[in-house]
Amino acid sequence: MVTRTPALVERMRPHAASIFGRMSALAQRSEAINLGQGFPDEDGPIELQEIARAAIAEGRGNQYPPAHGLPDLRLAVAEHQRRFYGLTVDPDTEVVIGTGASEVLQSALLALCEPGDEVVVFEPWFDLYGAGIALAGATRVSVPLRPPSYRPDIDALADAITPRTRVLLLNTPHNPTGVVFTREELQAIAEIAIERDLIVLSDEAYEHLWFDGHPHIPISTLPGMFKRTISVGSGGKSFSFTGWKVGWGSGPRDLIAAVRVVRQHLSYVSGGPFQYAIAAGLRLSDEYFDGLRAQMQAKRDLLTNGLRSLGFAVTESQGTYFATSDLGPFVRIDDRQVDGVEVCDWLPEHVGVAAIPIQVFCDDPDLGAQSIRWAFGKADDTLEEALHRIESATAQKVVGS
Ligand code: PMP
Repeated sequence: MVTRTPALVERMRPHAASIFGRMSALAQRSEAINLGQGFPDEDGPIELQEIARAAIAEGRGNQYPPAHGLPDLRLAVAEHQRRFYGLTVDPDTEVVIGTGASEVLQSALLALCEPGDEVVVFEPWFDLYGAGIALAGATRVSVPLRPPSYRPDIDALADAITPRTRVLLLNTPHNPTGVVFTREELQAIAEIAIERDLIVLSDEAYEHLWFDGHPHIPISTLPGMFKRTISVGSGGKSFSFTGWKVGWGSGPRDLIAAVRVVRQHLSYVSGGPFQYAIAAGLRLSDEYFDGLRAQMQAKRDLLTNGLRSLGFAVTESQGTYFATSDLGPFVRIDDRQVDGVEVCDWLPEHVGVAAIPIQVFCDDPDLGAQSIRWAFGKADDTLEEALHRIESATAQKVVGS
């Protein structure tokens, strides 16, 4: 979407409007159920809230914490990387804390890319990547994940690499498709990264949101990959506190040192009291992480089965809190063939539900034209009501023809 804001630098003009803001505003105006934006309905563990409250009351973290993150949070990140993935990182030099995964990702792009460097990314892609690459003056090169399976095409990836490619930006579990990359896929990607000497920026914001039979594997655990990978995690996603904005990056000292330099000149520090709480979160028992997954998996099933029974073809979501489908009964509106953008513009007012068109995550205008992303991290009765509204709309032939 293009802006008419003349003051804005040219490279940011294509990134002016946020689809999430537009859809949420539409949802609010029509009192629609918002299955667009990806935040959970239910807040995370009460004990983490109490730690943040106590930190504020006791005066811990109310003033600038250390620039690269509280030492105990960096230690907790290192412990977490070892506990879940067997990775050894030095909390003093190989971890950085940021204002959400977002700031770590953007700092990494700014720190690693010279103007004109290319960043290869699978599309559909999370919108922040496009903006971050543009801010760095780098060029985005997209490799399609094609519906309905959205599996990565390794040959297409290899073809997209040029001598200018600096960073391969990977996201697994993948927003918006729900794909979790398999070990074989990651191995093939790793071989390309090693052969072409690329840095991998691995967005693992949904690392704890994967479902049965599709475990998350950090690419940094594959042979030869740690030294060229920055892994990024999100306290918002792993502990259901998206408003706290605490994220982290870990990886080899030279890459993390580069990220630290840029990141400290962005927000410098943030979320002092929340950093104590997220440190405790990373040390929660296995029951917590298993429970989070089980809870999300049940919601995935509720929405997926419901949409399927209403005539949508839903791609199995293997992780994140998103599922994608085709346009189902909304493929024609008022006897007119429509695309995902038209459907999602129309849904809030006519059906009372908001969702996001996959097209807005793609450079290729045809790639996601017939696909929609639904967020299922919502209360069960909210999901049931959304399904009920879709069913009523289709039963009343609101969709025309
Ligand atoms: N990466 C992906 C794939 C995301 O979906 C999000 C949030 N929607 C982020 C990163 C940003 O996470 P945070 O809120 O921790 O900045």
